[in-house]
Amino acid sequence: MSAGGPKILVVEDEASQLELLAYNLGVEGYEVFKAETGEEGLLILEEQDIDLVLLDWMLPQTSGLEVCRQVKRNKATKNIPVIMLTARGEEDDKIRGLDIGADDYVVKPYSIKELMARVRVGLRSTAGQMGADLLVYHGLSMDLVQHKVALADQVIPLGPLEFKLLRVFLEAPGRVWSRDQLLDRVWGDNLNVDTRTVDVHIGRLRKALAKVSDVDFVRTVRGFGYSLDTSA
Ligand code: CA
Repeated sequence: MSAGGPKILVVEDEASQLELLAYNLGVEGYEVFKAETGEEGLLILEEQDIDLVLLDWMLPQTSGLEVCRQVKRNKATKNIPVIMLTARGEEDDKIRGLDIGADDYVVKPYSIKELMARVRVGLRSTAGQMGADLLVYHGLSMDLVQHKVALADQVIPLGPLEFKLLRVFLEAPGRVWSRDQLLDRVWGDNLNVDTRTVDVHIGRLRKALAKVSDVDFVRTVRGFGYSLDTSA
């Protein structure tokens, strides 16, 4: 274990899974803390300066959902990204997990490579935050208290859905979101919208940003979705 890297807490009751995750995270240079129960995990969160949590949904006693809720309710831990690990097809779980503030969601069986990529994105999203109330990316800033978006000093007027979309993007720059994921995060429980709606509001967001900047902030990922990415 190489100390000094970001600290990752893994909460998983299946010993083989726990070891597999710990091993791979160690290889990537992270300092890994292991917990087999939610209680143990919460204790470690109190004692250590954890940078990201990988949290199994199905745990004995305190469930992953409850652990996540407690992490997000606590001022000291609420900005720590939580990636939930869950069984295939539990869509209701996914929505509930995102509702209570889980930052990401990975379905088992996951590929280790994919999971490591998500961990990197999760860590980057906190590094990009200048305090929880201000999100910044390449000169673009979102003030969550004043509900204001600006590029340099120029304020960009946005509709409420465009604001929410941009917020999702700014919380994880570079991460690629599928239309379904954006629907979940921005429209939530509203089942009367379909993925074309996402395209419409992405279009409006682009238009608003294009008025103040030549940089194209929103990248279209063909066949998948969108990402906040100026490098394209
Ligand atoms: Ca489990």
